Amino acid sequence: MTSSSLWAIPLGGLGEFGMNMLALRYADDIIVIDAGLMFPEAELLGVDIVIPDVTYLKQNRDLVRAIILTHGHEDHIGALAYILPELNVPVYGTRFTLALARKRLEENALLDQADLREVLPGRKVEIGPFIIEFIYVTHSTIDCVALAIRTPLGVVIHTGDFKMDPTPTDGAPFDLHAFARYGQEGVLALFCDSTNIERTGFTPSERAVWPRLEELCRAAPRKVLVSCFATSIHRIQQVVEIAASVGRKVCFVGRSMVDNVEIAHSMDCLHIPDGMVVRPQDLKNYDPLKLVILASGSQAEPLSSLSRIAVDNHRLVSLEEQDTVILSARIIPGNEKAIYRMLDHMFRRRALVYYENSGGAIHVSGHASQEELKMLQNLVRPRYFIPIHGEYRQLFRHAALAHQVGAVSGEVILLEDGQPLEFTAEGAFRREPVSAGRVLVDSGSLEEIEEVVIRDRRHLSEDGIVVPIIAIDKHTGRVESQPEIVTRGFIPSDDGSEILNGARGVILRTIEQSNPEEKMDWGVIKEKIRSDLKRYLNKQTSKRPLILPVILEV
Ligand SMILES: [Zn+2]
Ligand SMILES: [Zn+2]
Repeated sequence: MTSSSLWAIPLGGLGEFGMNMLALRYADDIIVIDAGLMFPEAELLGVDIVIPDVTYLKQNRDLVRAIILTHGHEDHIGALAYILPELNVPVYGTRFTLALARKRLEENALLDQADLREVLPGRKVEIGPFIIEFIYVTHSTIDCVALAIRTPLGVVIHTGDFKMDPTPTDGAPFDLHAFARYGQEGVLALFCDSTNIERTGFTPSERAVWPRLEELCRAAPRKVLVSCFATSIHRIQQVVEIAASVGRKVCFVGRSMVDNVEIAHSMDCLHIPDGMVVRPQDLKNYDPLKLVILASGSQAEPLSSLSRIAVDNHRLVSLEEQDTVILSARIIPGNEKAIYRMLDHMFRRRALVYYENSGGAIHVSGHASQEELKMLQNLVRPRYFIPIHGEYRQLFRHAALAHQVGAVSGEVILLEDGQPLEFTAEGAFRREPVSAGRVLVDSGSLEEIEEVVIRDRRHLSEDGIVVPIIAIDKHTGRVESQPEIVTRGFIPSDDGSEILNGARGVILRTIEQSNPEEKMDWGVIKEKIRSDLKRYLNKQTSKRPLILPVILEV
């Protein structure tokens, strides 16, 4: 590696949706942009989250200077708690982004050691040979930035996630001028978000959801339940204002919803008129005609508020006939089955359920569509263009779009995770791949990250695997026989039968304590069994085997 070259090393998010991470290296200095996670696909049952393989960073531990966050979505900050113990470097981000990161680190008892440094859009920070300007961009959460990174070889722009919202709800527009300014000066490379490359036209403004949401809240015959991402502060703001305008109060339900509302409110990023909020414990006696409940769990995460409400297993919220449910969020590919199953439960309760846009938008995307992507290329006019944030087909199509636009003076380059690119005075060159990939994590065992790396089978070989097999009668929801438990490499040699008997007891108890609808919903019941069994086995054996419940319909 010659000292006068710049390297870009994608470690995640190029070839999959999520776990975004890109390293930039100049001589002996490395900065890392984002540290995201991705949620496992169904076939990875038994795994809580997926994070990028950071072997390359660990091998160059002494050179890593900082992690820079573009915004607070999980696919950009979610791996911090797993990576910081390995690489304790300063973390830069805007106020709201750092507040979300801080919460995560606190939950994992990592906050004391963390060095979080707040940045402001429009300002610059110097880290080694890099001077980084934070450029304000609009997206589905607040306080998002793109990065313009001045290096000895030229300026590199990383867009983070963005759309060009001309009428954002908080009045702070996408900073077109900054991109144009760098374009004028000359940009070496543009790394650009590809999430919405398959959509033509412009992504509608966040304000586009107002009319339909207002109409539904006004016309609702009973209470309204809106679910969106807990980070969608603009959406939450609009729902609060709509509720006020139709004479309803709001109630926030679900841990992430309550936490994020509190954070955004304390930072003055979310405005809630006095007397607007009903506490969840007061819901029972509140007039349903005067209520809008905002709940997290729009992706039907098995133990989330919305999933529990759908199967009538929420302590404080129940869904009645004629209640209105609005899913104001994208159905993320991979979650369709779970979400539709959750909606089925709601339809069974005769709720009025609205999902996907019909009769007006109830959700708009936070990512740029084709026309915005074209406009950005025209503003920045980079020498090299590298699509990021997408599965391969999206990166490919984004590259094709760049060829079509013709604003790239040098080369359009398709990279995937682990494929480094070296920029020198002569050009840009692909180099030998570095190790990269997915690391599967079973959360709750953060202390020793080595223990939870399943990739290299250490986890399996040390802690083993436990497969409980449960036969449930599809119609009665009854367990038909004693659960069977198959284990490999888990049971200690002395006496396993006692532990397994206990585990059977745990399974039976979990099922017994579930209501009929939960029992019919394999996704929910498996997740409940998995989490209860995990706790039990860890307590009994201090091991964390991989647990993969199997349910047989009889
Ligand atoms: Zn993202
Ligand atoms: Zn995002």
